[in-house]
Amino acid sequence: MPCTESPRLRIVAVVSLFASNTVSQDLPLVVVAVERAVDRSPDGLTYALPHALSHLTEGARVEVPLGRGETPTAGWIVRRLGPTEDPGIPREKIKPLIAQDPSGVVLPAELMQFARWISAYYACPIGMTLASILPAAVRKSIGRVERTLVDLAPAPVGAAALPKITKRQQHALDVLATLPRPIELADLAEAAGYSSNEPLKRLVASGHLIATRKTAVEAGFIARAGNIAPAPTPTAEQQAAITAISRDFGQFAQHLVFGVTGAGKTEVYIRLLEECVRRGKRAILLVPEISLTPQTVGRIAARLANQKVAVLHSGLTEAQRNQQWTLLAEGGADVVVGARSAIFAPIPDGSLGLVVVDEEHEPGYKQDSAPRYHGRDCAIRRAQLAKCPIVLGSATPSLESWMNAVERRISTLHRLTRRAPGLNTPKVTVVDFGEERRMARDRRISLIGPTLREAMQRCFDDGGQVLLLLNRRGYANYIACSDPRCDWKLTCSECDAGMVCHVDESGATRRSYVRCHHCLAEQLLPKNCPDCGKPVTVFGLGTQRVEEELTRLFPSLVEGDTLLRVDGDTMQTAQHFHDALERFGNGQIRCLMGTQMIAKGLDFPNVRLVGVVSADTALALPDFRAGERTFQLVSQVSGRAGRGERPGRAIIQSFEPETPAIRLAATHDFEKFATQELEDRRQFALPPYRRMARLILRHPGETECADRAAGLAAELRPFLGPVELRGPSACPIARIAGKYRRQIELLADHPSEISRVLAEARSRGLLKLGEELAVDVDPLNSV
Ligand code: ADP
Ligand code: ZN
Ligand code: ZN
Repeated sequence: MPCTESPRLRIVAVVSLFASNTVSQDLPLVVVAVERAVDRSPDGLTYALPHALSHLTEGARVEVPLGRGETPTAGWIVRRLGPTEDPGIPREKIKPLIAQDPSGVVLPAELMQFARWISAYYACPIGMTLASILPAAVRKSIGRVERTLVDLAPAPVGAAALPKITKRQQHALDVLATLPRPIELADLAEAAGYSSNEPLKRLVASGHLIATRKTAVEAGFIARAGNIAPAPTPTAEQQAAITAISRDFGQFAQHLVFGVTGAGKTEVYIRLLEECVRRGKRAILLVPEISLTPQTVGRIAARLANQKVAVLHSGLTEAQRNQQWTLLAEGGADVVVGARSAIFAPIPDGSLGLVVVDEEHEPGYKQDSAPRYHGRDCAIRRAQLAKCPIVLGSATPSLESWMNAVERRISTLHRLTRRAPGLNTPKVTVVDFGEERRMARDRRISLIGPTLREAMQRCFDDGGQVLLLLNRRGYANYIACSDPRCDWKLTCSECDAGMVCHVDESGATRRSYVRCHHCLAEQLLPKNCPDCGKPVTVFGLGTQRVEEELTRLFPSLVEGDTLLRVDGDTMQTAQHFHDALERFGNGQIRCLMGTQMIAKGLDFPNVRLVGVVSADTALALPDFRAGERTFQLVSQVSGRAGRGERPGRAIIQSFEPETPAIRLAATHDFEKFATQELEDRRQFALPPYRRMARLILRHPGETECADRAAGLAAELRPFLGPVELRGPSACPIARIAGKYRRQIELLADHPSEISRVLAEARSRGLLKLGEELAVDVDPLNSV
């Protein structure tokens, strides 16, 4: 993305605009979408392109005067009007655009088309959508440097001799003659023994040297290839999937690769990526943020060693992100591996040949701020626009994708039923934890029951490693009065939610405090009940409490050394997580314990035991997907066991061991679970059988919030058509950070019906996104 805009040129453009109001008659016109939360006219405002900027096309980020105050505002050219096209407003009212954005960014046309779809489908103004597509690092040109390269000037022709130079200057020219050229000005200065660049600049001015400028984004290095493992020979099942999908290169087609954990789905993707590049096209591979560990990236980079791989994820520095994005935009990479937002990779037009979404069921693919897009659904759309195949892969497909493959047959299902050669299927045991606790003589053992404890001991004795999952941070999540006759319970003063007890051991003394996981408010743990004065007790589950119990049960486990807790509190940066995995990989850490961060994607052959402290944490959520989430978590984490030569085992503790989601995950029976769950969804008319959009209204005043929600519902009703409107009702958490929350749910059999209602609402100015209103199409979050 070369920067053609110098600051000086920018000033010229600004000056010309004020002088050019009268000549705007013949200037080309463009439609610009400003980066604001409101929709202005259907898709943007009309501006004139001043002469200096007449080359700008659709996809360029620009600055325009907005409103009466002519406030300079960032926006995007979304369309150039034809020379005879009627702009729909009088010419003299059209203002000239101020300048091109200094980043010089121009998005490819395919990406612009994609952004338009996102804007319409997720009901987010196009300017805002485009703003979110462009990484801030690219917009701010972080890491971009300009370098001056110099070379010897060709010998002058004819009489025009060059001015005389000093001996020292001649010395610099002599040195340059011996060096590879062109060379950076600063490097030549150093080689010639100068302390500044000035004498060389004078040689440029006098014509002895010729100078060229080069811009580049410098960021150091990124994708490190792991050990180059020889490519395994695909199994028959893998080969069948590869062959069938390859047949669809060059056209849009949907494929679902359903393979148990360890079945070798990644191997299938890698072969397809290679094939795509061999055919001269480029590919996008999306993986969940959480599995973008150096392990995964290194493995893929190693296998694609002959391809140019770009990486996009949150662990990059800003300069690296700009570098990778720029590399992609300039066509310098064949494959991009990245998290959710990599679906917006600026692949040059006409060259995208394959899109793959690994772990397509992951809720992390959904963005929780506007535009609230789903990376997987966007990937399908992007493939459709690029006319290329899309491959979704999972051991526990989302019910949306499963229905598309099995019932609607709009995607082709490929089953990988066996683990890759050499891998065993882990034996999964579900422990009735209520029963174990009743039987236990040692009342102190409250989190790790005898079955799990004995299995862990045996695994350690045997030299194996253990992964232990509890999907809840903190020490304990329930803080209440110890007197059963008093019903006081600690809740957050700003949210309708309980607070979580955390223990801080960083200081000299151990300190207990409570934190709200919704608004992050904190206070010290009260000692006594404010109502009756009796002592306060804490109970419930948290990773910190598990850690405490582990060090008590297993003296060989030392926190920070042989035991490591992995959760949002201990792993504050991607680097922490990467270091933790490295220490687990080299065997120093015997037991890795933590939240869902450790449940997915990890491939460590010495993990022979996986324990789930409580499989019930997701079941308690007020969400119709609770069963689906539980199934996914239990089977994903169990799949981390037995990835080496020794067999693996998983032990799942649950107070509800008969819950189908848990029972069927333990027997690896996804198909049965999916069939039953789909039947329930059909019966209750829930997604994926119906499409849903959620409008969430937030306001500090309870009555205002209710009034606004009722008002919006009333405005929507006249044009609902077949769309069902539910509510307004209080959200499951009715107040967060001092703001009341009410929701309106829209449901329809077909997504286009929801889109129509939202589009109509937008055109009537009813959906101004921001603090007070969020629109969530195909919501995954029900809080
Ligand atoms: P998944 O992504 O389905 O969980 P992976 O692709 O991570 O599975 O494969 C699990 C392991 O099996 C990896 O170490 C991989 O290198 C290995 N593997 C995959 N396919 C084969 C094969 N055809 N032959 C031998 N080993 C394989
Ligand atoms: Zn709170
Ligand atoms: Zn009390």
